[in-house]
Amino acid sequence: MPAFPFQNSYSKLPESFYWKQNPTPVANPRLIAANESLAHELGIETNWLQSPEAAEVFAGNAVPDGAEPLAQAYAGHQFGGFSPQLGDGRALLLGEVASAKGRRDIQLKGSGPTPFSRRGDGRSALGPVLREYLLSEAMHALGVPTTRALAAVVTGDTVYRQEGEVAGGVFTRVAASHLRVGTFQYFYAKGDHDSLRTLADYAIERHYPDAATAENPYQALLAAVIEAQAKLIAQWMSLGFIHGVMNTDNCAISGETIDYGPCAFMEGFHPHCVFSSIDRNSRYAWGNQAAMGLWNLSRFAETLLDLLDSDSEKAKLIAETELENYHQQFANEYQARFCAKLGLPLQTGSDFVRVTLETLAEHSVDFTLFFRLLTRFAESGDNAALLALFRDQQAGQDWLKLWQTTVHDQPDATTMQAVNPVRIPRNHQVEAVIQAGYQGDFTPFQRLHAALSAPYEESEEHVPYEAKASPEQMVHETFCGT
Ligand code: AMP
Ligand code: MG
Repeated sequence: MPAFPFQNSYSKLPESFYWKQNPTPVANPRLIAANESLAHELGIETNWLQSPEAAEVFAGNAVPDGAEPLAQAYAGHQFGGFSPQLGDGRALLLGEVASAKGRRDIQLKGSGPTPFSRRGDGRSALGPVLREYLLSEAMHALGVPTTRALAAVVTGDTVYRQEGEVAGGVFTRVAASHLRVGTFQYFYAKGDHDSLRTLADYAIERHYPDAATAENPYQALLAAVIEAQAKLIAQWMSLGFIHGVMNTDNCAISGETIDYGPCAFMEGFHPHCVFSSIDRNSRYAWGNQAAMGLWNLSRFAETLLDLLDSDSEKAKLIAETELENYHQQFANEYQARFCAKLGLPLQTGSDFVRVTLETLAEHSVDFTLFFRLLTRFAESGDNAALLALFRDQQAGQDWLKLWQTTVHDQPDATTMQAVNPVRIPRNHQVEAVIQAGYQGDFTPFQRLHAALSAPYEESEEHVPYEAKASPEQMVHETFCGT
């Protein structure tokens, strides 16, 4: 068995943090995809990835040397309601490896039931495996902090889901860690202060080592997590990304995007846009994400109160002061990203960004095409394709005139190219890949994956992936499907 260079630390934490167990084998695993460049970064031999043994490992049928599989305990607020015990119900941490970019978790998702499975089967359908692979790698290529995809297998077993009996899959996820706001909430809800301190110290050492030497390390931890989330959510929004399940158990302390369930990239822009079938009250709509991020961070701050100061009033004041920074951090990042998208100098004002988004919403203009065709207009002076996005051409022309005045006819086209993607994972394309996958055809998966690997580069070959959905192709709802 080739060595994964495991150097595990989570398994050394107290037993209350996890449940140790091995994955449950599947019938007939077959490798669908393996990420060579990521494997290389992690010090895993790339030749080995295509071996029969690799499929066994990525399916959970074989446990590699040095792995110490465990299900992590965590709690979480789901759509505002608190569950004191969630935990890895269908995932297992195999272990951690040290990469050039730092320590990374390697986790199997869909690897069988654990004590945290509740009514679930501990498995994953193939569709969500393909979805998470594509979406997380697309986000990485777009430059967004995110968990990564190392491998996907089809298990040879079936699972029962909303759509009936479908093929099962196992996904191998790589993350800076799987510490979530919900991990802190798990111990907070139990009143287990010792574990909270151990967890906070572990988070500092693993993600924010500078905090260790701050005057108040736990305050520095809180500040760092707040800043990472503010920046992350602003970046999501600048790409039209809707996470879909921003529950506290899906909010990573590292600042990576985690849990690609019913997430989606918006097509026709509207701030109230929601795709997730389970988000009945639009809690996690595109335009609510900043507020929901702050709500999650407030839950995080609560868990740290005892650590922030032994005087509870002082602790509250510290937490509030840190949380107040969020608005400005988010606003700065949001403004900078949208100004860059529009080719404007930063100081050119939030009013124009607001007016632009109002115009897009009023005319339901495709978000990604709008910014990319504006980029092409800035390069070439040809506005026909851009104006064609507007049902009402006059409205498009009026907006364009305003833009030209605002940029003084000198847009920063180079920056625009670097921040406005040509291609995003469009919902209808992802859906088509999943349907083909269930038929045993993974060519559409590979093609879409390739098209999304350099999303800011124009490419003749990948032009078909630029188009928005036709009315018949339009996806109105996305599902967790777990
Ligand atoms: P998620 O929707 O992925 O954030 O998961 C929320 C919780 O449900 C976590 O505790 C998961 O482990 C658990 N869960 C989701 N799907 C399953 C499943 N098929 N079997 C067992 N637990 C699951
Ligand atoms: Mg989750």
